[in-house]
Amino acid sequence: MHQQKITLITLGVFDRKMLDQVAEAVQLELKTPVITHQEHIDLHTFFDSARKQYDGNMLLKIIESKYATNNSITIGLVSVDLFIPILTYIYGQAYLNGNAGIASLYRLGNERYGLAANDRLLLQRLVKEIIHEIGHCIGLIHCHNDCVMQSSTYVEDIDQKASSFCIKCKALVSE
Ligand SMILES: [Zn+2]
Ligand SMILES: [Zn+2]
Repeated sequence: MHQQKITLITLGVFDRKMLDQVAEAVQLELKTPVITHQEHIDLHTFFDSARKQYDGNMLLKIIESKYATNNSITIGLVSVDLFIPILTYIYGQAYLNGNAGIASLYRLGNERYGLAANDRLLLQRLVKEIIHEIGHCIGLIHCHNDCVMQSSTYVEDIDQKASSFCIKCKALVSE
């Protein structure tokens, strides 16, 4: 990746240690400086009472308008369940060729699927999702190779994909 900075900003309740670990892993993978910031805002304005989930489109807009800057990609992290109108839920989303994205921890934990908690796996899943959204920001679309840009419907999909960009995606980014 080119000399772009990455900012990870948490909104609402989000574990600080998790944020630090994720930031370190993303920085290591992308070889790009990662800055972290915690924003203790009330997320209830994003809550859709009919769906009992949080509005991913509204959240993404706020991240872009309120927190993103021109020389940095900003990814908003939440621990609540996100949706967009056409999907039951999303792990995250981002503007293609933009400077903002979002990702949620909510559906990434094993406990949600009746399995024993696994912090390492949870971290790995979140890191992949963040890198995936950063990929969209730098212009990458979904990819069928063994690549972090594969789209994921289930956590198993996240687990089986690579945590880095494939050769084809890397080449597109460095063009
Ligand atoms: Zn995607
Ligand atoms: Zn790829």
